[in-house]
Amino acid sequence: AAKEGGRNRFARFERQMDIAARERRDLEMDLRNALQNGEFELHFQPLINIETGQTTSFEALVRWNHPERGIVMPDDFIGIAEDTGLITELGEWIIRHACHLASNWPSHMRVSVNLSPVQMRSTGLVATIFSAIANAGLDPSRLELEITENVLLHDSEANIAILHQLHEFGVRIALDDFGTGYSSLNYLRSFPFDKIKIDRCFVTDLADSEDCKAIVRAVTELAGSLGMTTTAEGVELESQLEELKVQGCTEAQGFLFSRPERPDQFTDLRGTGLDAASDGEPANLAIL
Ligand code: C2E
Ligand code: MG
Ligand code: MG
Ligand code: MG
Repeated sequence: AAKEGGRNRFARFERQMDIAARERRDLEMDLRNALQNGEFELHFQPLINIETGQTTSFEALVRWNHPERGIVMPDDFIGIAEDTGLITELGEWIIRHACHLASNWPSHMRVSVNLSPVQMRSTGLVATIFSAIANAGLDPSRLELEITENVLLHDSEANIAILHQLHEFGVRIALDDFGTGYSSLNYLRSFPFDKIKIDRCFVTDLADSEDCKAIVRAVTELAGSLGMTTTAEGVELESQLEELKVQGCTEAQGFLFSRPERPDQFTDLRGTGLDAASDGEPANLAIL
């Protein structure tokens, strides 16, 4: 009977694998046409300066508006886009679209764009970014590129060169999801980072965990001594924000302030002090 049960379990496992593989293949096929069909959209989430309460930047987070499935989240398709090489084309659209939108925002607001390690291996990346900035008429310092530690592990010599080129041009570079990867602190010296984004996992328990407090304090101090700022990711609670203030973190980002939304949703922020309206400028970021 035990053997029988094992066989059943294995059959079920095989069936699930089958479904997962088919699901992935379906998504992959749909993904090939999604860009031409205009199925991608960018949602935005504000980064808030903790001291002033002002929005300093909006991070672009891509969504796939699938004709049958509805909204597909990046964790469910970025990997497929990377494996198939489609990320190069998709990434270019994201950069161009983000720069274009940002060129209509109040001039003190930046746009943050996530870069995939696979995208960094494509030869035209620097030229693409320069041309996106030029076409949009955007000041290069208003574009911030977010890379994760994975980028530092592979092709690091080539990636250092690319990031230095972009940085010298005025583009800002942020290290995303800090503390979750496997790389050494040595890269903090070789890469031209302006900002460290402290991963959500250290923020979640911040109010109760002495360990998380110690880690956030250490990262904030380290960043400060290296001339970098810090952004805490995934801030959901007032108590977390209070603690981040105590630890001297520069910016906060998370559901406490706003979920990622379509740019036209930000009219809702008017008058809260978190938007550009507080200094007399339009808060509606969809003025296209
Ligand atoms: P990320 O760059 O670290 O982005 C932060 C993720 O955390 C976003 O998920 C955001 O919606 C979510 N988040 C923000 N605040 C909170 C919070 O308070 N609580 C919780 N629980 N979550 C919060 P999202 O949009 O699903 O994106 C997931 C990841 O997909 C991103 O992580 C990024 O690595 C990748 N991604 C998103 N957009 C792009 C893109 O345009 N290009 C590339 N290459 N990757 C992207
Ligand atoms: Mg990011
Ligand atoms: Mg992150
Ligand atoms: Mg992440």
